[in-house]
This record gives sequence, C-alpha cells and structure tokens, in this order.
Amino acid sequence: MKPAPFQYHAPKTIAETLDLLAQYGPDDGRVLAGGQSLVPTMAFRLARPKHLVDINGVAGLDRLVVENGRLCIGAGVRHSAFEKPVEDGPLGRLLASVVRHIAHHPIRARGTFCGSIAHADPASEWCAVAAALDAEMVAESKVSGTRTIRAKSFFEGIMATALHESELLREVRLPILPKGTYAGFAEYSRRAGDYAVAMAVTTYRLKNGVMSDTHVAVGGAEARPRRIAEAERMLIGRAPNLGTFQAAAHEARKAVDPLDDPSVSADYRRGVVRAMVIRALENATT
Ligand SMILES: Cc1cc2nc3c(=O)[nH]c(=O)nc-3n(C[C@H](O)[C@H](O)[C@H](O)COP(=O)(O)OP(=O)(O)OC[C@H]3O[C@@H](n4cnc5c(N)ncnc54)[C@H](O)[C@@H]3O)c2cc1C
Repeated sequence: MKPAPFQYHAPKTIAETLDLLAQYGPDDGRVLAGGQSLVPTMAFRLARPKHLVDINGVAGLDRLVVENGRLCIGAGVRHSAFEKPVEDGPLGRLLASVVRHIAHHPIRARGTFCGSIAHADPASEWCAVAAALDAEMVAESKVSGTRTIRAKSFFEGIMATALHESELLREVRLPILPKGTYAGFAEYSRRAGDYAVAMAVTTYRLKNGVMSDTHVAVGGAEARPRRIAEAERMLIGRAPNLGTFQAAAHEARKAVDPLDDPSVSADYRRGVVRAMVIRALENATT
C-alpha cells in the first residue's frame, strides 16, 4: 500500500526543525529520522501523519562525542556508527556487541539510535541499553524549552514515551562505564535480525572478588525495558559464578510481567528472560 497523503518539510537547522514541530506537532506532525519504523507503518496506513519533518538534512545532529563522562549521541547518528567501538572502553565494546543484533545491515545503515529510543518498541536493543545504563534523553522544543528525561521516566509503555508532540529528541547521553566494568548482552530471537523475544543487558564491577554497582535490565519481555532491582540485589556482594547468576536470573524471571501473544506466551517469555539474564552475565567482559 501507499501512505496516506502528507506534507513534507525538510528543515536545514535545529531552529527550523523546532519551529516546524511547534507548528505541526499538535496537528499530527512527526519527525522522520531513518524512516525504518515510521515509513513501513505509514505504508500499512497504521500511521497517517499529516506532516513529516525530515531531520536528515539538519546540520549538527550527527554529533557523537564523549563529553563530561557521557557519550552524547545526536538524533542523526545511525545504528551502524556503533559497529566499531565508538570509545575505547567497556561502553564502546558493549555497544558494538549489541548493534549486531539490530535488524540487517541496510536497516542499520539508515535507522538512527535516537529514532529507536523515540519509537520505543519494547524489543528495541538500544532501549534496553538505555534502561540498563540510566540514559539521559535530551528533549528540545520551542514551546517547552529543553529538558533531560531519565530512562526510567522516559519509557512509558509499548511505543509510548514521555516525549511531547512538539519535542525533538535531540540527543541521548550514556554514561561512560569506568575501566574494569563488566558489561554483557544476550538476546533470543527466532531468526537473526528478527525482533527479540527477550533480551538482557548487565553491568557490574568487581571489588575484592565480589560484585558491586550491579545493573540488570530486561527488554523485549515487558511493555517497556527496565532495570530489575530484585536481580541486581541478588548479585551485590557475591562472587561472579554460575550459581549466583542463576539466582539473579530466577529473581528476574519472577519479577517480570511478560507480554503474552498468540505466538509467544507469557510463560515462555519468563523462561527466556531467565536464560538471557544468565547469558548476559556470563558474556560480560571488561
Ligand atoms: C525489517 C526490520 C527489522 C527491524 N529489526 C529491528 C531490531 O531487531 N531491533 C530494533 O531495535 N529495531 C529494528 N528495526 C527498527 C529500526 O531499528 C529503526 O531504525 C528504529 O526503530 C527507528 O529508527 P529510525 O531512525 O528509522 O526512526 P523513524 O522510523 O524515522 O521514526 C520512528 C518514530 O520515532 C520518531 N522519531 C524518530 N527520531 C526522532 C527524534 N529525534 N525526535 C523525536 N521523534 C523521533 C518518529 O517520528 C517516529 O514516530 C527493524 C526495522 C525493520 C524495517
């Protein structure tokens, strides 16, 4: 099918983009980033925006820099930018291991990191990473100014976020993981490149042989990605071994309230969550 008619806008600057979003956001206007989620939805007429504000020609949105201990990822940065480590530490290596699981190469070459975050598909790998690392989302609007939203408050449900209709998600900031942090990722999907049934992102530090500063996030299983405090607590003060990983994964399995659909039952997803938490902890490297 072809999309329903829409008006196309191609701003060149951030100021113009914010003007257009202030004007057309409330009138069913949408940002067009990589188009890898929005365009197929429009083609199926599941989305019928009246206005598209294409940010692909906007100067300055391709910012990808380390600043004040954070990796700043601008709205124009594509998934493929992470295929080689973007910083020389555990965060760069974690992102490079995660990006391989996102779709296929042509989609990674076009889709954007911030587009994934704004789209908030529960099975998005970047959303799970953002939840695990308590990412900061920088939203900008001509109407309400600039605000920084933490991942915990940003993801509200299936494809629902705290972003307002006139806001541009200008950049996402991830904390640089200190040297020596162990970081791991695991996901299960039926075929390579498919959306995941469930995934886990874990990080921890080791002091005197026991774990501290533990982060365990689950994505794909629930309506939104989130850290699982019960699993994190189970790891603190213990040595990283299979028994401890299994105990934490058991807590994650109990804590989640999984999505249930005809092809993947909630109970099956719980089992996958357990397996992914163990695997992400086992995969964790520094
Ligand atoms: C076959 C296929 C397989 C896929 N597999 C996966 C997968 O395994 N894992 C995965 O995570 N993704 C997958 N995707 C989706 C892909 O990663 C998209 O690139 C991503 O979800 C959205 O990024 P985008 O830049 O393409 O955004 P778009 O499609 O342009 O936009 C998506 C939504 O976000 C909004 N938006 C985008 N950028 C901004 C911004 N800066 N500020 C405010 N709103 C914004 C848009 O208005 C729209 O509502 C797949 C897509 C396809 C077609």
